[in-house]
Amino acid sequence: MLMVVDKLNYIYSPGNAYEKHALKDINLVIEERDFIGLIGHTGSGKSTLTQHLNGLMRGTSGTIYYKGEDIYDKNFNMKGLRSKVGLVFQYPEHQLFETTVYKDVSFGPKNLGLDQLEVDLRTYDAVKMVGLSDDLLDTSPFELSGGQKRRVAIAGVLAMKPEVLILDEPTAGLDPKGRDEILEQIARLHKDNNITIILVSHSMEDVAKYANRLVVMNKGEIVYNDTPHEVFTHYKELEKIGLAAPQVTYVMNELKSRGFSVNTSATTVEEA
Ligand code: ADP
Repeated sequence: MLMVVDKLNYIYSPGNAYEKHALKDINLVIEERDFIGLIGHTGSGKSTLTQHLNGLMRGTSGTIYYKGEDIYDKNFNMKGLRSKVGLVFQYPEHQLFETTVYKDVSFGPKNLGLDQLEVDLRTYDAVKMVGLSDDLLDTSPFELSGGQKRRVAIAGVLAMKPEVLILDEPTAGLDPKGRDEILEQIARLHKDNNITIILVSHSMEDVAKYANRLVVMNKGEIVYNDTPHEVFTHYKELEKIGLAAPQVTYVMNELKSRGFSVNTSATTVEEA
């Protein structure tokens, strides 16, 4: 078990009018090499949960274990966790700020105090991992296309050599082609590198193809945590919590293409 979330609760602004119980008794096990699709309607708690996973936010109660260590223990290396659990925020390209792609991607490793050779190697590797040409290293990130900028931002997180990569809505705002390219790239990262992926989305379409497990959140709770085909057997309930019907049709087709026989009228999905 790589990470264990144990009865985690988080309350925003406790005790005042804006109080919001955003995470309610979250229990979750993340195994090494998992590709988890974390889905739920806007406001269901996905971002709040992911920010707990890399220690940016601290639970109101409950805890998280990373490789068996309690991350809230006073001796735990929280800074280490931030590089081990890389978080790519929504619209990460808004956080690019350096004058060249090289400088942006190498920013994190440089701050770790690594020697120049290691910084260079990590930067080149990370740029390759996201499918960009190293010809772009001297280019200003602001001259790149939207999809390329996003890849640069992801490379910046990969250069920290995370064991877990969390991507919050990585396809937001991209056209269908850009969306497919980014998702394929993430799938390749998972396949070729020993990396655990948590892909956050409000879209079942994004996660149906690649995830080995789906975690569905609603109103701060995990309502399903299972294989995609098991989760999609509950498609009527999924529609009720805002995961829309056209998406369900799409997902059913995806599952059929993965070899499951899908009987929509009987609400069952069986392995073919
Ligand atoms: P998601 O990522 O699924 O869209 P969030 O984790 O952003 O959901 O939000 C979960 C809930 O917490 C929502 O009801 C949201 O309005 C609330 N929330 C998020 N951030 C804050 C904040 N800074 N202060 C108060 N409430 C917040």
